[in-house]
Amino acid sequence: MIKIYNTLNNCKEEFKPLNEGKVGIYCCGPTTYNYIHLGNARPLVVFDTVRRYFIYRGYDTTYVQNFTDIDDKIINRAAEENLTAQQIAEKYIAAYFEDTAELNIMPADVHPKVTQHIPEIVKMIEDIIAKGHAYPAADGSVYFAVRSLPSYGELSGRDLDDMRSGARVEVDDIKQDPLDFALWKAAKPGEPAWESPWGMGRPGWHIECSAMSCKYLGAEFDIHGGGADLIFPHHENEIAQSKAATEQGFSRYWMHNGFITINKEKMSKSLGNFFLLRDILAKFPGPVVRYYLLSTHYRSPIDFADDKLQMAQKSLERIQNSYMLMQEAKAKAAAAGEADAEFDKFAEESKQAFIDAMDDDFNTALAISIIFDFCRELNGKLGSLGKSALEKAEQLFAEWDSVLGMILPREKEAAGKEDELLQLIITIRQAARKDKNWAMADAIRDGLKEIGFVLEDSPDGVRWKRI
Ligand SMILES: [Zn+2]
Repeated sequence: MIKIYNTLNNCKEEFKPLNEGKVGIYCCGPTTYNYIHLGNARPLVVFDTVRRYFIYRGYDTTYVQNFTDIDDKIINRAAEENLTAQQIAEKYIAAYFEDTAELNIMPADVHPKVTQHIPEIVKMIEDIIAKGHAYPAADGSVYFAVRSLPSYGELSGRDLDDMRSGARVEVDDIKQDPLDFALWKAAKPGEPAWESPWGMGRPGWHIECSAMSCKYLGAEFDIHGGGADLIFPHHENEIAQSKAATEQGFSRYWMHNGFITINKEKMSKSLGNFFLLRDILAKFPGPVVRYYLLSTHYRSPIDFADDKLQMAQKSLERIQNSYMLMQEAKAKAAAAGEADAEFDKFAEESKQAFIDAMDDDFNTALAISIIFDFCRELNGKLGSLGKSALEKAEQLFAEWDSVLGMILPREKEAAGKEDELLQLIITIRQAARKDKNWAMADAIRDGLKEIGFVLEDSPDGVRWKRI
């Protein structure tokens, strides 16, 4: 039984899917005006892992993550880089896929973009107006009337009157209430704009997630995720818009990941500790970053610092070494070993313990510690295990990797290492030739050929290729 901490009710609840055996997940994606930063990376890894776990548990899973491809920040960036807003969005969407591939984040089933869903957004705004929860203003914008919806504030636990007395209240003769928020923004000169019943304009930020989740997952769906910083106003406003438009329940479970600090300070541009993911990936391999982000429970805060990443690297290497030793032992093992029955039982218990940890609100920190216990036991028994027991261990590693996405060495890394190794051998052979040590040079060439590689001279030097 999977339990989820539901921000809506502030407690862990048993997960009951809307449709048996299926789960629909919507996760807020990035605004595509820059490379993704570390703060974006945590929810991406967390909800990718949640999705992978549902798949592992046999659910038919639909995962939707939007790209906000029109926004003030994109328009400003376009002016800076002398490109159109669309070119900026496309550039950073391509970069998004490069960066997230390093973290082994699976592409969503659908990655809807705002600019391709203007008709759906306009339709939803019309529905909200028709039901009396929004109004067109004199300037051609449309605002959501927060006071028209008594349940407004249910996710963040905020009360409208407290907010009004506590917050700085802007004097505004366009909005009926200062807390009302824009569903549609009237066009400003020179900005991208679309036709609508209220004149040329573009969507406000919040409405896209309501319209696109409804299109791909239905008016009511299972899980909505994002960083805790999105609870208010973004997610609160999503709930208000969707409930007002569809008069249905919207997302049943709300999951939010905790904050990231850098060397115990809040991440911010002014403090100079605003890290882009690709800068971190230049120093640490993707699986190490992913391991680090999953080594703390997703709801807890996490502190990012180089020495912690170095420790994560060592820890992950211990798991990967155990996997490689298992592979070596398997190649040499007899069909059956003396410790097999006892080990089989231990493997089954480990498998179940991993499931129990993940069932309990996706406790990846505990799940990783179970993998460590398993590796310790496996390392101690390698010499006495038979092939079938080692295959069982291999199967478990593969299952855990399918969920956590960083246990096994990736093919790309393995290929990279192979190239590095062959380049090193080629360099050694070139040095032998320079010393006129022909016997050594030939022995290297022949030895490589025997294991399936040939060396070829090319204008750029010596290259290797598989036979
Ligand atoms: Zn959203």
